[in-house]
Amino acid sequence: MTCIICRAEKAPSPEHVIPRALGGSFVIRRVCRECNNALGAKNIDQGLIEHNASVERRVALQLAGNRGTVPDPIGDAISHSIATGIPDVKVRLSRESGGYRVTVKPPPHHNGTVPGFHERAYRERSIT
Ligand SMILES: [Zn+2]
Repeated sequence: MTCIICRAEKAPSPEHVIPRALGGSFVIRRVCRECNNALGAKNIDQGLIEHNASVERRVALQLAGNRGTVPDPIGDAISHSIATGIPDVKVRLSRESGGYRVTVKPPPHHNGTVPGFHERAYRERSIT
């Protein structure tokens, strides 16, 4: 097969004209593996798939990509711990059925105060 991109005689590689992650099902077999991989690279297919407009449509249409998962932009944005500026105290937001959970580590005392927070505030007041 003559690759339509590099014009070399090579074995064909199935190329989704529109990425499968965007619902594409039309496949051509006129591209070699190397060119197919280059098309799937960050600046072409991957860039298109990861564009905010594409992600929004993938969520709305529940389109799973090659990994078999539908994007979860809110979950991705909140799924890591957030440094609070207070040493050893982190806040984590996570998805939970019906909403989100806020977790403070270490957990707050029984009276609702966060370990380290009031001590630091007290120290800062003491310094000034
Ligand atoms: Zn090629």
